[in-house]
Amino acid sequence: MPILPILTNPTPSLRERSLEVETKTIGTPDFQAFLDVLIETMFAADGVGIAAPQVGRNIRVFVVNRHGKGEVYINPRLTKISEATAIAEEGCLSVPDVWGMVERAKKVSVEALNRHGRIVTLDCRGLEAVTFQHETDHLDGILFIDKVKDRESIKSVKSIKS
Ligand SMILES: [Zn+2]
Repeated sequence: MPILPILTNPTPSLRERSLEVETKTIGTPDFQAFLDVLIETMFAADGVGIAAPQVGRNIRVFVVNRHGKGEVYINPRLTKISEATAIAEEGCLSVPDVWGMVERAKKVSVEALNRHGRIVTLDCRGLEAVTFQHETDHLDGILFIDKVKDRESIKSVKSIKS
């Protein structure tokens, strides 16, 4: 299975708002093949999630590693966002070797289409809630480094990798 190169900041297309996927597109072989490659790319990069714009397709699709399986979310929306927040360290495949503390809602509900075009809903919390918010941001051209409150918390781990 081939994998795709992951675009890194500051690639301009990472900053674009991605377009909705038309329902009739979902069942096409080309689109299904793209989903498989996107999943493989996530696993190859050891990511917990990856969004289509990170591989140069500005469409509203991301995949998340849930229990070791690549799950597809098409045209996702966060339908509920808790007022309660938590601060946790984040990184991003498109911002290599950089980590920073980001404040996010503790719980979110997600509504999306799965790879068969069926509506799925999901309530998530903890790391999973962070991942869905992070990936949804990618579809709006937002990177986690935009949301790091305390710039001091940004650290590059390149130095310790030597
Ligand atoms: Zn990311």
